[in-house]
Amino acid sequence: MEHAEFNNHLIEFLNASPTPWHAVATMKQRLDEAGFKALDEKEDWNLEAGEGYYAIRNGSSIVAFRTGRRDVAEAGIRMVGAHTDSPCLKVKPNPELRRKGFFQLGVEVYGGVLLNPWFDRDLSLAGRVTYVDGSGRVSDTLVDFRKAVAYIPSLAIHLDREANSNRTVNPQTDLPPVLMQVPEDDTTAFSDLLSEQLSREQPGIELRKILGYELGFYDAQPASFVGLRDDFIASARLDNLLSCYIGLQALIDSSGDEPALLVCNDHEEVGSMSAEGAQGPFLSSVLDRWCGKSRARAIARSMMISADNAHGIHPNYMDRHDENHGPILNQGPVIKVNHNQRYATNSRSAALYRHISDELDLPYQTFVVRSDMGCGSTIGPLTAANLGVTTLDIGVPQFGMHSIREMAGTRDGVTLFRVLRAFMQREEVL
Ligand SMILES: [Zn+2]
Repeated sequence: MEHAEFNNHLIEFLNASPTPWHAVATMKQRLDEAGFKALDEKEDWNLEAGEGYYAIRNGSSIVAFRTGRRDVAEAGIRMVGAHTDSPCLKVKPNPELRRKGFFQLGVEVYGGVLLNPWFDRDLSLAGRVTYVDGSGRVSDTLVDFRKAVAYIPSLAIHLDREANSNRTVNPQTDLPPVLMQVPEDDTTAFSDLLSEQLSREQPGIELRKILGYELGFYDAQPASFVGLRDDFIASARLDNLLSCYIGLQALIDSSGDEPALLVCNDHEEVGSMSAEGAQGPFLSSVLDRWCGKSRARAIARSMMISADNAHGIHPNYMDRHDENHGPILNQGPVIKVNHNQRYATNSRSAALYRHISDELDLPYQTFVVRSDMGCGSTIGPLTAANLGVTTLDIGVPQFGMHSIREMAGTRDGVTLFRVLRAFMQREEVL
């Protein structure tokens, strides 16, 4: 795939995927178009050699794989992992707030949100809604308001003279977004607004009653190329939809000769401990059903590449990186090393990545955190420990991780894609 085509599709992918449910729906659509077959966890699976399949759990996590043309016990599985969720503000169960005639919604902070950038943005709202339909069945559907329906205005500097030196954000009191102005006797329920939106989006839907939802606010500004020479992409959710997109393209574009797999989990940003998170049994269950008694042998020949963005060195804050380990945007994906196992990389998995990159003449960088700073983590160590699979942690370098708008280089994503595609069709990985 050409560089420009890759990035244009990336931007479409990001814009179509404001929540983990939308991201999985977008991936499902691409997999369907590429001839992969849907598997239902409730049913029996009859997997055939040389085919592509996928399973979805909770609508927000997905495992897609190619069975390959060789026995999985002899071939092993080339695995890539990423996460579908991003830090954001989620709507509370009883969210309505009415103050001075403003209708606002109470929000819960999901994950490690960088809060300041959420002020003064055109916010939209999307997620999953669960309802009773006309025939009394409980069903789920996705909703996306698309337009800017909410806003969190900053407090003016005149009302807070220390705003530039000393402003902190109280997530309970400072964040409820403003949706509209209402009369004093207003009794609008948020579920009424949701019903109206669903009827607009899906006129055919038979909606008796909304019983629940999981909705997050997001920046209505679409992803875009940025910079005098388009060196960068700016978007919400680059962490980690960029890696989901790269892994998906690599799997779809790979030859299908070798067993290969992509897992994209929800709930990474809150520790991965859920039925569909990386600490849960989803991937393990898929591997059991695929490999059966050969699982242990297959795993011993397999490798997992856990792709999650890295921190590029910021020219205004250069002291936050070790002097020899400051990844530069557009100089290649970043192999993440932490011997304390916050990253699962070992010298063997890193070597394979470097070797494939060298063969393709593609660049890479290596990161280790400053010795006087704490280190982030990924689904890499969790998956490595759960499955017992040799793992590499890698990621495209970016700025502003967990901001409402993040920034990455336009050349690193396509590099990682090329290496992962080569990895997925490599005859031997371990
Ligand atoms: Zn991440």
